[in-house]
Amino acid sequence: MSSGTRIVLLGRQGAGKGTQCLRLSRHYVVPHISTGDMLRAAVREDSALGRSVEKIIGGGGLVSDELIIEVVRERLKKADTQQRGYILDGFPRTVVQAEALDLIAQDLPLLGVVDLVVPRDLVLSRLSARRVCRDCGANYTATGVVRSPWSCDTCGGDVVLRDDDTPDAINLRLDLYESQTAPLISFYGQTQRLHEVDGVGSQDEVFDRITEVIDRAGGGS
Ligand code: AMP
Repeated sequence: MSSGTRIVLLGRQGAGKGTQCLRLSRHYVVPHISTGDMLRAAVREDSALGRSVEKIIGGGGLVSDELIIEVVRERLKKADTQQRGYILDGFPRTVVQAEALDLIAQDLPLLGVVDLVVPRDLVLSRLSARRVCRDCGANYTATGVVRSPWSCDTCGGDVVLRDDDTPDAINLRLDLYESQTAPLISFYGQTQRLHEVDGVGSQDEVFDRITEVIDRAGGGS
């Protein structure tokens, strides 16, 4: 079995998963696999996958389990993942996906699941101010100052409001999180893989809490 960090980061949209995953990916030198970023890239490329999911993503719904499981299955076959492990962000989102991950990743089993806990009213205000780099996925917070065009400090890409960060889509996504993703908490709790981490605090504080949990679970090797 390969060594490396193999974790899933769970948490409501706007809990800070994207930001923390980028930092964790650099810290542990492990691929950050965001299914949302992969699907948005497919939409930008106007691929067959992108065309099939564009409307669903824009409306804040979930794409089918079958389709997203296939996307992740293919991604986990790549050499970087086989050698270094993975930090999964946005997958699994349903118990069906979690069961599929256990099968797909039999040779690279999950070391732990971190649930980043942030209350709903706090994520609502964060999401309305969130801006994201179209190219590398870096997150920014709109402060009211207009920077036009707004370029990413990391890669120079366009920094934009996501189509699904409108109030209606945000509420739908949060409702879906409660109904479909929250059961994952029980699923991973029952198999002793769940670690709850308080996601309220500075980025550094939250990062330290997460790395402590991952190191304890043996994922920092
Ligand atoms: P995210 O960036 O993780 O919020 O994902 C953006 C959108 O991509 C979601 O609102 C869904 O439409 C779709 N998506 C990403 N990951 C999944 C998944 N695991 N299952 C179903 N839909 C997903």
